[in-house]
Amino acid sequence: MASALSRIVSMKGFLPPKSVIMTRRAPVHLSTEVTTSSIPNSADSLILISEELKNCNRCKLCKLGRNRIVLGEGNPRARLLFVGEGPGEQEDLEGRPFIGRAGQLLDKMIEAIGLTRAEIYIANVVKCRPPENRNPEPDEIETCTPFLHRQIDLIQPEVIVALGKFAAQTLLKTETRISELRGKFHNYRNAKLMPTFHPAYLLRNPSSKKEAWADLQEVAKELKLNIPKTKNSVS
Ligand code: URA
Repeated sequence: MASALSRIVSMKGFLPPKSVIMTRRAPVHLSTEVTTSSIPNSADSLILISEELKNCNRCKLCKLGRNRIVLGEGNPRARLLFVGEGPGEQEDLEGRPFIGRAGQLLDKMIEAIGLTRAEIYIANVVKCRPPENRNPEPDEIETCTPFLHRQIDLIQPEVIVALGKFAAQTLLKTETRISELRGKFHNYRNAKLMPTFHPAYLLRNPSSKKEAWADLQEVAKELKLNIPKTKNSVS
C-alpha cells in the first residue's frame, strides 16, 4: 500500500475524497459570459465586469498577442477563490483560466479537498496573457488589479488561495519568498489568504507537493470541509 507521503507526492496525492461537501453555498453552474435572469446579484455584476472588459485596451497586453480576455470562472458565490498569475497559451486561446497542464494539476488539488470547479472560483491577477508567459509588468498589474478586487468583493470568498510566488507577492504587496509566505493565512480584503505553490511549479518540483497539500489541508480546515483523517498525515 502506498504511504501517505508517496500518495501526496504523486499526482494521485491530489485525488478526491468521496464524502466532502461545501456546506454554506450551493454550487451555481455559470460561466461569466452567460446571461440569465435567475442568477444571484453577484453574478449579474460579474457579467457587468465581463462586459466592461470586452475588447479591453487599458494596457499594452492587448497589443502584445492577446487572443482572449480571461476574466475567470466558477461559482459567483464561492467560499473559496483561487488566484493565479495570468493566462497562459491555452487559456488565451480558449478564454478560460487554468485549462493547460497546470490547470489539470489544479483540478486535482481542488478535487483533493473534495470540491469541483463548479463550486469554487478561479481568477488571475491579470486577465490577458503576457507575451512568452513573462511576468506581468507593474503597469499591467496596476491596470488590472481593480477588476480582481471587484471580483473578490462581489464573490466575497471566505478563503483565497494565491497560486505561486507572483500572485502571493502581488496581492500581499511584499517581496517575501513564497516559501516563507505559504503555510499560514494572511488577511486580505475580508478573506483569509493562503499562499501556496503554483501548480506549474509543482509540475517541475513534485517534491513540493507535500507542502502544497499541507496548505490545502489548512484551507479545508478553515472552510470546515469534511476531509477523511487519513489524508492528513504527512511525514
Ligand atoms: N497559470 C496561471 O497563473 N493562470 C492561468 O490561468 C493559467 C496558468
